[in-house]
Amino acid sequence: MGILSGMANLGLGNLANADIYASAEKDKATEADDKVAVVLEKDLIYDKSVECPVCGAKFSTKIMKSGKAKLLHADQDLRPVYEGIDATKYDVLMCTSCGNTGLTRFFPMMTSVQCKLIKENISKGVRIPTFSGETYSYDDAMIQYQLALACAVVKRAKNSEKAYICLKSAWLLRGYAEYLEQGGEFEGNLAAKLKELKANEEEYLLNAYNGFLEARQGESFPMCGMDEITIDFLVAVLATRFKKFDVAGKLVASILTSPSANARTKEKARELKEEILAGLKKK
Ligand SMILES: [Zn+2]
Repeated sequence: MGILSGMANLGLGNLANADIYASAEKDKATEADDKVAVVLEKDLIYDKSVECPVCGAKFSTKIMKSGKAKLLHADQDLRPVYEGIDATKYDVLMCTSCGNTGLTRFFPMMTSVQCKLIKENISKGVRIPTFSGETYSYDDAMIQYQLALACAVVKRAKNSEKAYICLKSAWLLRGYAEYLEQGGEFEGNLAAKLKELKANEEEYLLNAYNGFLEARQGESFPMCGMDEITIDFLVAVLATRFKKFDVAGKLVASILTSPSANARTKEKARELKEEILAGLKKK
């Protein structure tokens, strides 16, 4: 199993065996063709009707068409990067009647106690945002992720669910910064905005790190659709980022000696080990 093997459980089975470090070489054929079609975000999504588990209302949401977008690569912390679309923008569902919001994979899974908590602590007070564009802007998506995190806190979701929302929020902010760096539409002080996005991404990643670290102690696997090796690798990547080299080192060592980790995962773990050693030298 590859480090993206958990993606199958995320409804992204097309990514399960994706070559996460696919080089640009494979794209040469496409580049050689002078009639390269521009992939438009609006063509990679569709409107879907979803029923809310809290209030029972049906609402329309924008969903990414599965298997249509081309995966370009994945970041070290597993963020998938597609051609023409940021998948993270379309992985959150918000009920336009009661405000109940969550990541797609967790959205239907609500206990009656959780429904009651959402009704009392979200639905009563929330001003539900509206989105009028053909696609979701990064700001549209960010509002939904913030609401999803608020709902997760209110419904006392597991640490892993909260950590996953934080991780995906960080991915979203990274995508936003990349979009702006590539000349995306923006009015105002670009340098200040990029600085803000990067600072917020770090904060979300730190929250994801702490949440997954907690979740590893008390929850069972698979977690958020990821198996133990995938979670360990992810936590090790985040630990390295935050210079928690002792934590990262232990996780990498366990991956390297694990009989269930495949060759590619071990290779990635060895690369991470080099980063940890380099980080320790700088300390
Ligand atoms: Zn609802």
